[in-house]
Amino acid sequence: MSAASPFDPRLAAISPDELSGRVILVTGASQGIGRAVAQSCAEHGATVLLLGRNVRALEDVHARISSRCGAERATIIEFDLENALARDYDNLFAAIEARYQHLDGLLHNAGLLGQLAPIEHYDVPTWCRVLQVNLTSAFVLTQILLPLLKRSADASIVFTASGVGRSGRAYWGAYAVAKHALEGLNEVLSEELSGITQIRVNSLNPGAVRTTMRRQAYPAEDASRLATPESITRPYIALLGPASRGISGGRFDAQ
Ligand code: NDP
Repeated sequence: MSAASPFDPRLAAISPDELSGRVILVTGASQGIGRAVAQSCAEHGATVLLLGRNVRALEDVHARISSRCGAERATIIEFDLENALARDYDNLFAAIEARYQHLDGLLHNAGLLGQLAPIEHYDVPTWCRVLQVNLTSAFVLTQILLPLLKRSADASIVFTASGVGRSGRAYWGAYAVAKHALEGLNEVLSEELSGITQIRVNSLNPGAVRTTMRRQAYPAEDASRLATPESITRPYIALLGPASRGISGGRFDAQ
């Protein structure tokens, strides 16, 4: 008898209504990977909470989801992860609780590249901004939303990883450090929640994807050779939905 294959979200079977009835919050839903995953979540049956700071861009995402799935399947949450205060997080919790009473999925996708520079010369304010958006806000958002996730029968938290957050690389500074720390948060939280809740926690590295951030990091690269955000949504759906039930603390790749 052969041993069961390890779970791979790239290969998991996904039904067209995989996320039916689920309420899923996606941070950084205004563009890039977050926008594509949010749209795919809605197309797979979820109600999506589109969190971001650029309302015009979020309205565009909302309009696309509305035309394909219905207006009730997306909600815009204007929220700046760099500057949010405690009361903003409290208001966010109250708004989601009032409208949906629970949360089934939380995708931490928003991110800032910061600068590419040696540690010796890395700008300290930029370091603080990158750590705030890429790491600390994910911790605070998770903490504030945990009571809503606990009310779900099958909740999933996904942290967005990076190759430079699994193996450090020169000049990637705060971005690489924050992504390493997110992997740590993934492991700590997964262990804390296992056995006492139905919440699973995993990290997913999208790989090289044709987005604004990638262009900032590699301006001379031929972007036409990169995967599009729309082409890598499947493993996100697998990790956010029932396909990954029972899987927690894992580090996965989208490509
Ligand atoms: P984009 O730059 O296209 O998107 C980043 C998203 O984060 C945008 O929606 C942006 O909003 C949002 N964001 C940034 N700062 C804030 C803030 N203060 N408050 C709220 N939202 C904010 O990048 P990608 O789509 O490429 O990146 C998505 C994730 O994937 C990131 O975590 C990134 O680290 C990771 N990743 C990407 C790779 C790639 O090759 N593209 C490779 C490995 C990891 P706004 O529109 O307002 O700027």
